[in-house]
Amino acid sequence: MRLLLMFAGLAALLWTPAGKAEEPLAAGGEWSIAIHGGAGTISRDRITPEKDAEIRAALQKALDAGAKILKDGGSSMDAITAAITILEDDPNFNAGRGAVYTWDETNELDASIMDGRDRNAGAVAGVTATKNPILLARAVMEKNPHVMLAGEGADVFSKEQGLEQAGPEWFATEYRLNQIKARKAKTVSAASADYKYGTVGAVAMDKHGNMAAGTSTGGMTGKRWGRVGDSPVIGAGTYADNRSCAVSATGWGEYFIRVGVAQEICTRIRLRFPELIREAQKSVPRDADGNYTFAIHASEFPFPHEEAQKIADDVMAEVGRFDATGGIILTTPWGHSIYSFNSKGMYRGRADSGGVNEVAIFGDE
Ligand code: ASP
Repeated sequence: MRLLLMFAGLAALLWTPAGKAEEPLAAGGEWSIAIHGGAGTISRDRITPEKDAEIRAALQKALDAGAKILKDGGSSMDAITAAITILEDDPNFNAGRGAVYTWDETNELDASIMDGRDRNAGAVAGVTATKNPILLARAVMEKNPHVMLAGEGADVFSKEQGLEQAGPEWFATEYRLNQIKARKAKTVSAASADYKYGTVGAVAMDKHGNMAAGTSTGGMTGKRWGRVGDSPVIGAGTYADNRSCAVSATGWGEYFIRVGVAQEICTRIRLRFPELIREAQKSVPRDADGNYTFAIHASEFPFPHEEAQKIADDVMAEVGRFDATGGIILTTPWGHSIYSFNSKGMYRGRADSGGVNEVAIFGDE
C-alpha cells in the first residue's frame, strides 16, 4: 500500500491531471520567438537583390511585432498571432494574401494554432473567405468546442464570429496564378520544390514561461480533391506544450503528417526528463509518512542548445528518409529558438530576451 501511495505521489509530481493547465517549466522573465516564411529551393541565384531585401524586411517586421509583445510582458499567443497575421497579409508568402492556387485556380487556406498551457488548439482547413486564417484558427480554439473545422462550415463560423472577410481578389496574385498555369502546362513537376515554399509560422515563449505555436498556408500548388497538408494538423505542422516546446513546420506536408513532426519533437524533449527526475528524486529526504519533502522539477536540469538542436535535426532526418524537404522552427522553455531544415533555404527569423535578433534566408547564413 505504502509503495502504491509513494508511486501515486511521484506520479502526481510528474504528470498533471487531465484538464489542468501545465505549470510553465520556466518563468524567469525570459522570452523568445522564432518565425518562418517557408522552406524550399531558395538560393542566391534564384532571388533578386530587391526580392531578398523585401523578404528580409517582411520577416523583420513580423519578428519585431511578436518580439515587442513579448518584451512588454504580453502572451506568447498574442505574439505569434501578431507575427503570423503580418506574414499572411504579405503577398510574398504562401499564406493568406499570396496563397498558392488549387488545380481549379482557387485559394484554399489552412491554419492552426496551439496553446502550450493546456494544449488547447484550433485549426481550419480549406477555408476561402477569411482574410487572416490564423485568426479563424484562434477563434476555433477559443470559442468553439471543436479543434478542427473544414470547408464551408469553417467559413460560416468565421462570419458568425465577425472576422474580417475577403473575396478571391484579396488572395489572388499574378505570380501564383502563373505557377499553377505552368503546372498545368506541365512545364514544372508536381513536386517541384520551387513551388512549395511560403507557408508561414511562429513559435514563442513569453515571460511567464508559456509556449504557443501557429502555422498558416495556402498549401501546395495544384492541390486537388480537398487535399489538406500538415499545417492545420495538430501534431504534424503545429504543436505546443509548456512541458517541452513549441514547433511550427513547413515543407512537403504529406511527409510531415506521416512523421508527426511537431509532436515528435516535443515528445522527445518531454520524455528526456522523467528518467532524470526519477533518479534525482531518490536522494530527496522524506517526511514521517515517507513522502518526498520536495519535488525535483524538470527545469532543474540544463538543456544545452546542441541537444535541443539534435532532437530537431533527428526528427527532420526522419522526413529526409522519405526524400522530402522542409523545415521547422522550435522554441523551448529553456529559451532556445532553433531552426532545422533540410532544404536549401528557409525564410526565418528569431529574437530573444538575451539580445538575439536576426532574419535569414539561405542555408549557409
Ligand atoms: N506544408 C505545407 C503543405 O503541405 C506547404 C508548405 O509548407 O510550403 O500544405
